Amino acid sequence: MTYVVTDACIRCKYMDCVEVCPVDCFYEGENMLVINPSECIDCGVCEPECPAEAILPDTENGLEKWLELNTTMSANWPNITRKRDAPADADSFKDVPDKYDTLFSANPGQGD
Ligand code: SF4
Ligand code: SF4
Repeated sequence: MTYVVTDACIRCKYMDCVEVCPVDCFYEGENMLVINPSECIDCGVCEPECPAEAILPDTENGLEKWLELNTTMSANWPNITRKRDAPADADSFKDVPDKYDTLFSANPGQGD
């Protein structure tokens, strides 16, 4: 089992999650973060910290796509352990559904 970051993080990227992770297993893309499933120790501490409710346990149904994306992208994106300011327009994307199709970017973020 692991936790995964899902669609709701895209273009929100509040980063509250990275500050609480005891094993620093968040990785930063241009528009979202992901969790490295092989490093996550399933503590669940990050889940309630996310203002966008983007972090879910992979035991929930229908998250296979997100598990795959977290696995793939965490191998390519830089590690992030320190919170920076969220994008200025983050709140305007918070309740937008199905952001992956139009707003996902495979480009890496800047990391720590
Ligand atoms: S707190 Fe939530 S929205 Fe913010 S970066 Fe982490 S997963 Fe994404
Ligand atoms: S569940 Fe725990 S170990 Fe996994 S990403 Fe969240 S805070 Fe880190």
